[in-house]
Parts: sequence; C-alpha cells; structure tokens
Amino acid sequence: MTRTLPTLLRHRVMKIEDGVRKYLLTNFAGSEQQKDLDKTKGNVKGSINDFFRVKTNLKDYQLDEYFATKNNQVLPFDMDFWAIESTGAYNTARLQDVPREIIEEYTNVFIYQLKGCNINCKFCFVDRFNNNGRADHGAEYFSMREIIDSFIKFRERKNDEGVALNQFRPSGGEPTLAPEQWLEVLQLLEEYGLSKKVSVQSDCNGTTGHAWNRWIKNKEMQEDLFEQVSKYKNFNVLYCFKGSDPENLARNIGRNAEQGRELLEEQLYTFKKLLSNGIRTYAYIINPNPETLEGFMNELAQDYGRKIIPFMHILKIGPYGPVKERYGDKIDEAVSEWNDYYARSEQVMDGLCIEEFGKHYKEISRPSIIEDILANA
Ligand code: SF4
Repeated sequence: MTRTLPTLLRHRVMKIEDGVRKYLLTNFAGSEQQKDLDKTKGNVKGSINDFFRVKTNLKDYQLDEYFATKNNQVLPFDMDFWAIESTGAYNTARLQDVPREIIEEYTNVFIYQLKGCNINCKFCFVDRFNNNGRADHGAEYFSMREIIDSFIKFRERKNDEGVALNQFRPSGGEPTLAPEQWLEVLQLLEEYGLSKKVSVQSDCNGTTGHAWNRWIKNKEMQEDLFEQVSKYKNFNVLYCFKGSDPENLARNIGRNAEQGRELLEEQLYTFKKLLSNGIRTYAYIINPNPETLEGFMNELAQDYGRKIIPFMHILKIGPYGPVKERYGDKIDEAVSEWNDYYARSEQVMDGLCIEEFGKHYKEISRPSIIEDILANA
C-alpha cells in the first residue's frame, strides 16, 4: 500500500458539489457480487435500485437452531446484539436472554458500498472494478440525505410488510476513506428522530489510521471528527484484522512478507486509534494462522486486557464468485485450508477462553464487555 493511495481514492470517492458532500456508490448490476447476492437464501428481498441491498444477518433457520440449543457457539455473527446493546433495545449481558422478537428487529441490514478500497484482498467478495474508485460500471454519486431517504422509504415499505429494518451499514470498499459519512449519517438519523431505534455499523479494514492523521494535518478532515462520532452510542465499527502474523496476513491478502509486516503494524495502530477515540469497535480476524493466533492474542492482551480474547471473533473466508475467479483452479485447495484454519482457530480461542474465564468461546457476550475494551484503549 502506498502512502498516497488512500488520499487518491478519497478524492475520487468523495466530492463536494454545490456545497453538498457526495459519495461514489457501487452499482451491483451485472457484477459477480450481485450473482452471489441473488443466491443468498433467507435475505430480505427487494431493493430500491442497484445501489442498495438488504442483508439478513441471522436467517430464520439459524435463529431456529440458536433458540433450540441456546448455544452462542452456533451463531455465525453477533452484530445484531451490538445493535441491540447500542440502541438500548434490551440488556445483552446474557445473549441467551434476549427474546427472538428483539433479535428479529435488528437482524436486517440496509447496506451501500463506497466504490473504492486501498487494499486488494485476495479473498474480497467485491469485484475489483467495483473497488477502483472510478465513476464507471454504473457508479453514481449520492449525498447522504439521498442515501438516508432511500433507507427510510425502504424501511417503511418493509415495516408495512411486517419486516423490521433497523440496521444501517456504510460499507465498501473502504468506508474509512471518507469517514465524514459516519458523522453525516448519525446526524441525519438524529434529525429524523431515529437515533434511539436505528443502529449504524460500518466496516473498517484497519489500514487508514496514518492517512487520517495526514488529512487532519492538511485540514481536509475535521480534527474532532471521531470525537463527534463517538458521542453517538448507536454507532459501531466492524474492524477486520487480516491475519494473525505478517506472513499469514500477506498470504491472505496477496502481498509479500514486508508488506504484510507494514500492514499489520498499521492495523494495530488504526485499531488503537478508533478505540482511544471512544469509538465502539468490534474486532474480527479473518483466516488467522492457528499456530500464531495465541501469540497474537497475548500481544493484544498486553494493551487491552485479557477480555480482548473473548472479544475477538474469527471469520472464515468464503468462496464467493470474485474469489473463485482469483484463485482459479487453486480454489478447492484454498477452501480446504480456510476450513481447517477456521476449525483450529476456534479451538485455540475456546482453549484460551476456558483457561482464562472458565467459559467457552462466544459464551461471553461481546456487547457486555465493549466498555471494558474502550476503557483499556
Ligand atoms: S478491505 Fe474489504 S473491501 Fe477492501 S479489498 Fe479487502 S475485503 Fe475487499
């Protein structure tokens, strides 16, 4: 990653027109990603146009299994609970106590994608042309008010059908190339009286911390942006560590070892920056190396305390359409390694959690410890 790439992309994906800030959004039409979305069973169907989509985090059959077993381990995601905690919809100290009807209120997510990313992960589910920062392939600029108005219209339509839509996700691409969108969306939701109902969760690839410093120094980003954002409790960041050691990271995203080292340092720096600014940041590691995971967690624990261990979730790489194209005839081999790493990494986390807290991995509710993590940052 060059130091200038985030800035170059920032200038492409965000512009001011007649005094209004506008963001370049991906058009899914005709992409491999759209084919993947069409195949996803259990998602709420329907969209306003090709720029917005709705994902259902926990599908009915997953909730059925969860409520039959009352076992957190079977949950593929826990983002719904962050939303429930951050809007105050229910006490999330024990996830098992949260009623199904509350989870169903927060399991559908309205998503748009900023059309640009400063790293090109080999496992990315987005077609490369939809992350290039260019106004091509049907991409268009939208103001945040236009985006929010689309969300509200779609939300009302779904509410009339008895489907709740209370999560809003600025995604990408890399949303932190234009973190101004975070404050704008939060302010607009407040203006519409939705701050106590709608939770905003944005993604972060953890590689823009130093770029933010440069933009603040150059006065192209407001100095107290993150402080302002952190005042909104209904905001969370989904933060993705790309590996548990430099080689693992380099291999995951398709870089050399030296670049892997630089990126891991940048990731640690950016993670700290968000948390120390008071931003509710939930971390994942994608495809960690099970051999180095324990060492990585112990290193993080020195900075954030031992509760960082149950706080970190593991994410498995999925063989989406664009991923299959990139791996070509090596895809089956890769999938088998991802499955193996995932299973072994979950065992590592389970062992650490039992040793440290006497509980299984994922038995400790992340939303109930977010304040501890923030306090240690
Ligand atoms: S950081 Fe996210 S959007 Fe960017 S290339 Fe990686 S997976 Fe794709």
